[in-house]
Amino acid sequence: MKVVICGAGIAGLSLAWWLGKQDWQVLVVEKASWLRDEGYMIDFFGPGYDAAERMGLLPLLQEAAYIVPELVYVDKRGKRVAGLDYELFRRMQSGRLLSLMRGDLERILFEALPGEVEIRYGCTIDSVAQDGDHVEMALSDGSGESANLLVGADGVHSRVRELVFGAEEGFIRHLGLHTAAYIFEDAKVQESLAGNFKMLSVPDRQFGLYAIRGGRIASFFVHRTPDATPDDACGALHRIYGDLGWLAPATLPHCGETCATYYDQVAQVEMLQWSKDRVTLVGDACQAVSLLAGQGASLAMLGALVLAEELGKDRPVEESLAQYEARLQPVIAKKQKEARKFVGWFVPASRWRIAARNVALRVAGLPGMGWVLRGLGT
Ligand SMILES: Cc1cc2nc3c(=O)[nH]c(=O)nc-3n(C[C@H](O)[C@H](O)[C@H](O)COP(=O)(O)OP(=O)(O)OC[C@H]3O[C@@H](n4cnc5c(N)ncnc54)[C@H](O)[C@@H]3O)c2cc1C
Repeated sequence: MKVVICGAGIAGLSLAWWLGKQDWQVLVVEKASWLRDEGYMIDFFGPGYDAAERMGLLPLLQEAAYIVPELVYVDKRGKRVAGLDYELFRRMQSGRLLSLMRGDLERILFEALPGEVEIRYGCTIDSVAQDGDHVEMALSDGSGESANLLVGADGVHSRVRELVFGAEEGFIRHLGLHTAAYIFEDAKVQESLAGNFKMLSVPDRQFGLYAIRGGRIASFFVHRTPDATPDDACGALHRIYGDLGWLAPATLPHCGETCATYYDQVAQVEMLQWSKDRVTLVGDACQAVSLLAGQGASLAMLGALVLAEELGKDRPVEESLAQYEARLQPVIAKKQKEARKFVGWFVPASRWRIAARNVALRVAGLPGMGWVLRGLGT
């Protein structure tokens, strides 16, 4: 049996790993020219952590993980105003939580792939036609492919979803926020951070910085806006964060300097059906929960695992796809609902809300008060 997977992100690579182990002939096509470093630091726990353990990847992930003792909230002058004790958070997950750069997770999945899995970077799918138990595809490198299954693992703005299910507008729920992240080098900023993960919150905007390996710094932005995604991400960040104070003036000039800037709307994907005949979707393409859920990568790995488990059963592909949806859709709908409730706390819209969150974080640090973090959605 042959499968074509469109997208070599967390979902696509995980699925390629599982199906490769099941002796499927696997071809992955990825529009980026190579693996990317971009993205933010993720709290990796829950079902993705369990899946990684089953894949035997935990030792590699533990090696790549960062020790984050605390998330320190600062004011515009860089003075500490509150802190989120990560140890407490880790204990709430029974120690099964890793702080990982998204790019490191992607690289480890890539390096673990069985040798038979083929990946074509710089390639996408131009057209899809279903023909009985086969899917015929035209690829952007001029080749044609015929497979028993096509899986769209190509993220929130999925091309496969557009080709087979229809325009993006029908499936995306915007949560009224935009997010951005980029990595840069700056000795002075590095010194000011003193090894901490620091975040500045003002109404409708959050700006965070943390040092990562190789003398680099990762930046993280989230703001409330009704706008569409801007064409010029760095220009938008300058406009929105230019007056913020603290380390923003030192950080913004580095935008676009080295690796690309990640910039997107914070959105969820909601679909009644994830599969049509021999085409299905996995990860953000059909189940995006948004960064507010804090589990996008973890749930993408769960999606890949459940899909592979169902495809591994001896029965028609269509039945396996129906079971995959039946098992996963309720889990995702619950996470999406929980994430939506958290919008007001994630990027507080007023000073009193920021103050209330800071008090809640202080209380959560007291013995036996960890449940307060759950109330904040963490
Ligand atoms: C470079 C990068 C940086 C990210 N940074 C952040 C971040 O800072 N904050 C945040 O909240 N989320 C970020 N994300 C999204 C986050 O990784 C996902 O929400 C989560 O990991 C679920 O993964 P996924 O594999 O389903 O989707 P994604 O991680 O989005 O992976 C989809 C993959 O498909 C590829 N692709 C897209 N379109 C096509 C196409 N037409 N043809 C072929 N391939 C295609 C993409 O290049 C990507 O490799 C980032 C994603 C990427 C790719």
